[in-house]
Amino acid sequence: MAAVEPKRPSNFIKTIIEQDLANNLNNGRVATRFPPEPNGFLHIGHAKSICLNFGLAEEFNGTCNLRFDDTNPAKEETRYVEAIKEDVRWLGYDWGQREFYASDYFDRLYDFAVELIKSGKAYVDSLSAEEIRQFRGTLTEPGKPSPYRNRSVEENLELFQQMQAGKFEDGSCVLRAKIDMAHPNLLMRDPTLYRIRKISHHRTGDKWCIYPMYDFTHCLSDAIEGITHSLCTLEFENNRPLYDWVLDNLEVPSRPRQYEFARLNLTYTILSKRKLIQLVEEGHVEGWDDPRMPTISGLRRRGYTPEAIRNFCDRIGVAKANSVVDVSLLEYSIREDLNRRAPRVMAVLKPLKVVIANYPEDLTEDLEAINNPEDPAMGTRKVPFSRTIYIEQDDFRIDPPRKFFRLAPGREVRLRYAYFITCQNVIQDKDGNIVELHCTYDPETRGGNAPDGRKVKATLHWVSARHAFDAQVRLYDRLFLKPDPEADGDFKQCINPDSLKILEGCKLEPSLAEASPGQIYQFERLGYFCVDSKYSQTGRPVFNRTVSLRDAWAKIEKARAKQKKS
Ligand code: ATP
Ligand code: MG
Repeated sequence: MAAVEPKRPSNFIKTIIEQDLANNLNNGRVATRFPPEPNGFLHIGHAKSICLNFGLAEEFNGTCNLRFDDTNPAKEETRYVEAIKEDVRWLGYDWGQREFYASDYFDRLYDFAVELIKSGKAYVDSLSAEEIRQFRGTLTEPGKPSPYRNRSVEENLELFQQMQAGKFEDGSCVLRAKIDMAHPNLLMRDPTLYRIRKISHHRTGDKWCIYPMYDFTHCLSDAIEGITHSLCTLEFENNRPLYDWVLDNLEVPSRPRQYEFARLNLTYTILSKRKLIQLVEEGHVEGWDDPRMPTISGLRRRGYTPEAIRNFCDRIGVAKANSVVDVSLLEYSIREDLNRRAPRVMAVLKPLKVVIANYPEDLTEDLEAINNPEDPAMGTRKVPFSRTIYIEQDDFRIDPPRKFFRLAPGREVRLRYAYFITCQNVIQDKDGNIVELHCTYDPETRGGNAPDGRKVKATLHWVSARHAFDAQVRLYDRLFLKPDPEADGDFKQCINPDSLKILEGCKLEPSLAEASPGQIYQFERLGYFCVDSKYSQTGRPVFNRTVSLRDAWAKIEKARAKQKKS
């Protein structure tokens, strides 16, 4: 039977596009755009928008532009442009030659503004920002017209030209659309179209000292680029009448339509560049690409794959109403992807020395280990075994509680790919800490099976002490302690103080010494771990925990701890 290509899920925007195509709107053309403002790094919420916009273009044989919405020179930087491009590319999308900048349209936008002034639909207002706010009215009260609202076309043209020429100071006047000061939608009460900002722009330098506002720029950029479906998040629903007003009152080269979809919200996560930048600048994290950050670059460093992120975006779908997605769905997506792809290896994070008393002192055996039981094509490798090994401290209890089936005095367990061992002796220091175990092994159980058919209840991972190497492993936990970090106002109040734990002296199997940055492994029984791209050195990898495996015992422990507390 031929494999059926999995169809990407439908959504209301696809339905709209299908209808438009059926009606031969835009001559059957579908053109979308992803319009980031280069004022920070992209986050997983942006990934939703990227997958949607580029995905629709792919599916309907259309195009998707990458457009930098760079109209606020105070906050925008070239390094953000570069980071955004890297992230979109990494997610697997190609904008080809279609890289655009709103700032490339500044001349045309200026001409459009002049056109509005000439038709009596825009005026220069000399009220202060504060006065404009007071004049705007409220939801229940209409606004008051500015005393400058009825300036003549000639005077407006003259003043706007002077604004552009730098004759006025920041904030002394603005260009406003002349719409309706009593409009029920406050955004339609003569919105500002241009303001004076005497700041250098990262692309246009000092050519301009007036900059167009989002609502004026966005729709016109869409029209200039021939965008057909301009997709944005729900907060912009109120801006749609203005989007339409601008396009309906100017001679534009094409007539795009705006559609709004629900933004992605995730539990235990902040998705707002304005807030993420505070975490970076105030040092709560080590940078935009800190593996705890929900940024694309943070997720990449953490070990997330583009496939996992794209699958996640498919899974959450595109809806018309806002909701909050459980962050565990994101974790599920990466586990699912890595389960198929990540080679299994053995690593001991908190080592406990085990001496196998009846194993020959100088012997090393190379035991065969399976690289990925999910994928036989990934083959096998040799793992050295010798008399002294390390196991996890957590895998031994001197006084095992009920349901703890791992190693304990007198108990026999399996060492993965190796032998059955039995704990004979526990060596403790003077404070009672367990420092070493003495065990015996059964030579008949090589490979991990007893010829007499006897069973053991646990299989432990291990590394050979002589062959293992020491490495740093960085364990990450959620950055926020609450599902909604903003529930009580300040999200910084619920930053998790234990979101990063650095373990030194972890013991890793020798095959990992050559692992290169970005490579991802499953440490058996522990989780997925990725070689860090910042701290690793040749032959000295540092590992980030991408995500843990679900550990049944840890769950029992947690439940018990909770019970004790209450
Ligand atoms: P932020 O709130 O993080 O600053 P933004 O909307 O200001 O986001 P932009 O760079 O303007 O950031 O966003 C580019 C595109 O990504 C926009 O079309 C925006 O609607 C979309 N986007 C931003 N955040 C999300 C989100 N959480 N879910 C879905 N789409 C998003
Ligand atoms: Mg925005």
